[in-house]
Amino acid sequence: MRKETPPNAIVFIGPPGSGKGTQAERLKGYQHISTGDLLRAEIQKGTPLGLSCKEKIEKGEMVPDSLISSLIESHFSPQILLDGYPRTVAQAEWLQDKVHISQVFFFDVDVDQLVERLTNRRVCSTCKCVYNLVFKPPVKPFTCDKCDTPLIQRADDNEQVIRNRMRVYQSETAPLIDFYKKKGILTRLDAGNNPDALAKIIHDKIFKKS
Ligand code: AMP
Repeated sequence: MRKETPPNAIVFIGPPGSGKGTQAERLKGYQHISTGDLLRAEIQKGTPLGLSCKEKIEKGEMVPDSLISSLIESHFSPQILLDGYPRTVAQAEWLQDKVHISQVFFFDVDVDQLVERLTNRRVCSTCKCVYNLVFKPPVKPFTCDKCDTPLIQRADDNEQVIRNRMRVYQSETAPLIDFYKKKGILTRLDAGNNPDALAKIIHDKIFKKS
């Protein structure tokens, strides 16, 4: 029996608010899979999965692996960009049996800068476009430039929850940096760089195979 070719995956890891979603929106040729967006969509639709993870997300805690793995697998396609997955070494081990990971980008940024970035973050509830009231405000106040929908603040973008998400990132997700460094597929990005410069570095690394 012929074995199916596994999806080719690019992985973005980095603390909340480090710019992964913004860069994912800009990268063409890969289907963007954000586990956070998928989970928020389940909450919005009021599905059993959404109801069971709502409280965890609002507290900034990790959603159990058993709920995430089938959700993410149902969105696989030949070329995927994973944003927010994996988030633990156990998830990374599960993933390596399912996909071929060609590159992992680590968005390195001073965690102290992120609290301010995240409290000022607003997102479009329709097209998921991300804004910042200070660094990237919409043209029309509180309205998406692309689709004219009112912008919202995520329930987990308040200071107390943000600090909890940072703690969870440091203890659960940061170990992935060494995990992928040892495999020789990790590229560190200075996520404090301007978004255009970062987008070019990412694009060249993927498509020019430097
Ligand atoms: P994000 O949009 O990536 O910041 O994710 C928002 C929230 O969704 C996180 O704080 C977690 O509660 C949950 N979440 C997203 N991805 C994962 C994952 N891979 N494993 C566990 N929980 C996740």
